[in-house]
Amino acid sequence: MIGNCTETVCSADWYSVDGGAKMLGAIYGDIIGSYYETHCTKNYDFEFQRDSSFTDDTVLTVATARAVLNNPEPVTRFKLRKRGFEYAAQYRQYYSYYPSAGFGIMFSEWAMGDVHKINRSYGNGAAMRAVPIGYAYDTLEQTELQAKASCFYTHNNPEAVKAAQAVASAVFLARHGENKENIRVLLQKRFRYDLSRKTADIKEHYEYNSRASYSVPPAIIAFLESDDYESAIRKAVSLGGDADTEACIAGGIAEAYYGEIPKYIADFCDRKLDGFLKAMVKEFQKRFCR
Ligand SMILES: [Mg+2]
Repeated sequence: MIGNCTETVCSADWYSVDGGAKMLGAIYGDIIGSYYETHCTKNYDFEFQRDSSFTDDTVLTVATARAVLNNPEPVTRFKLRKRGFEYAAQYRQYYSYYPSAGFGIMFSEWAMGDVHKINRSYGNGAAMRAVPIGYAYDTLEQTELQAKASCFYTHNNPEAVKAAQAVASAVFLARHGENKENIRVLLQKRFRYDLSRKTADIKEHYEYNSRASYSVPPAIIAFLESDDYESAIRKAVSLGGDADTEACIAGGIAEAYYGEIPKYIADFCDRKLDGFLKAMVKEFQKRFCR
């Protein structure tokens, strides 16, 4: 179902490269949720909107992928700052490519400021871009370390670090075939999130708030409750909050778990992406998603 969108644009050639669409689950979630970031909805059957577009969530997800491609080596806990600087360099670089993609004021000021400045944001910005890390490393421990490094300069705050680690870990577990109950239990134990709640209960009082501890657990729950990629996105958007980021996170995990995205969603979203972003995704897929 594509709501009121009747245009058909088939761009599935690059989508199906190597038999996978990894990392696009997050990007498509961002695109579909983008309209509802400013037009919040509690309606599960919302329509896909023509004037949806990719936002900072996509730009920084791709920047994370670039940082991983540039240096895929494992990191130790003693080198987190150095590794963090490499992630930060890509975040600055990609901000400079797409400064109007919807970045928050705090991030924009950081991106244009002193390269050694450390931000201590507790927002969900580090979690929304963490999906590629979940694909790139061989152990959960390394996945968590890389996620922590990715936060060093922009979200040096335990709440934001935990959220980024939870998202990357969820992708790691999902792509390794863990069932949802195990994913739920492991994340609850490791990150002390209450993932036993239901989206139907959460959305009753849910509002726009990009704080990591407020917005990231519901996105994970949207995935845990889902039946397929599309239902994860719909549950995330219809929480009625930070819709692009909720759907980016839920969609990123859902793709890792289900392994497929409906073609009509790919077709709807692909035409919103430019060649540069597509080329980056393709490079990441070739390296990490066979
Ligand atoms: Mg956004």
